[in-house]
Amino acid sequence: MASGGPYFDDVRSKPEIIDLSKDDVVEAGNHVKDSSEYSAKPNAAVSSSVHELLECPVCLNAMFPPIHQCSNGHTLCSGCKPRVHNRCPTCRHELGNIRCLALEKVAASLELPCKYQSFGCIGIYPYYNKLKHESQCIFRPYNCPYAGSECTATGDIPFLVTHLKDDHKVDMHNGCSFNHRYVKSNPHEVENATWMLTVFSCFGQYFCLHFEAFQLGMAPVYIAFLRFMGDDVEAKNYSYSLEVGANGRKMLWQGVPRSIRDSHRKVRDSFDGLIIQRSMALFFSGGDKKELKLRVTGRIWKEQ
Ligand SMILES: [Zn+2]
Ligand SMILES: [Zn+2]
Ligand SMILES: [Zn+2]
Ligand SMILES: [Zn+2]
Repeated sequence: MASGGPYFDDVRSKPEIIDLSKDDVVEAGNHVKDSSEYSAKPNAAVSSSVHELLECPVCLNAMFPPIHQCSNGHTLCSGCKPRVHNRCPTCRHELGNIRCLALEKVAASLELPCKYQSFGCIGIYPYYNKLKHESQCIFRPYNCPYAGSECTATGDIPFLVTHLKDDHKVDMHNGCSFNHRYVKSNPHEVENATWMLTVFSCFGQYFCLHFEAFQLGMAPVYIAFLRFMGDDVEAKNYSYSLEVGANGRKMLWQGVPRSIRDSHRKVRDSFDGLIIQRSMALFFSGGDKKELKLRVTGRIWKEQ
């Protein structure tokens, strides 16, 4: 990562990098064979200093073509270029329109580990493919599945399970069948009858059961659905059913849990769950229809 200092720090760091590249020349000059080995497997120190060289001094992100430079050779990413009003952010000279082809080519020769290495990814990717891989890497951290707030926690599944338990005080249950009661005293205010989350642990996996009220067009409805704490491919190995009813009537939903890679809102807005109209929900609640009292039973099973 970058030192994050002001731009003039960057000027001073340049000679260091030049020194390092001189060392390379000496190394490569020792033996012709070495230089071919070098191109296949850059040594870690050099690759990390080149990595720093490829960091935009303004936004600190990795630079991708076209990489721009001022007449003094300071580089800048194409995203930041329009924002600096044609002044080099490092030396304040006029920026002009010079591309830094050499650096673009150096970048193309680099192979770097995925940034989720510490989460278990062992992939090594060409510089220009790395970002694309990282956006889809199966080891990338998950967002917190808790729907009720703008929680920014991210991490792997064990971390998130602990986080849901400790920080959101979520109900945790063991077993693959459940019988859950949702009680709300004033169901006529949709905003009031919010959402609830319960986590089930079975088959060595974790599943989030969501229940929430929302407005479907003009109609207030409730939805219940299950999300799988893991990737989409694995989620498809499971199925679940939800059942709600009373007075001899019942509604049944069978579905496939969605991965928590899909946001809670995305699942809800695609209606991928048991949808209960409010009038029906109140009928199932019995009594004077002033209170929501739903009993939702369900089961999770593994497909063959
Ligand atoms: Zn930038
Ligand atoms: Zn400059
Ligand atoms: Zn990866
Ligand atoms: Zn959270």
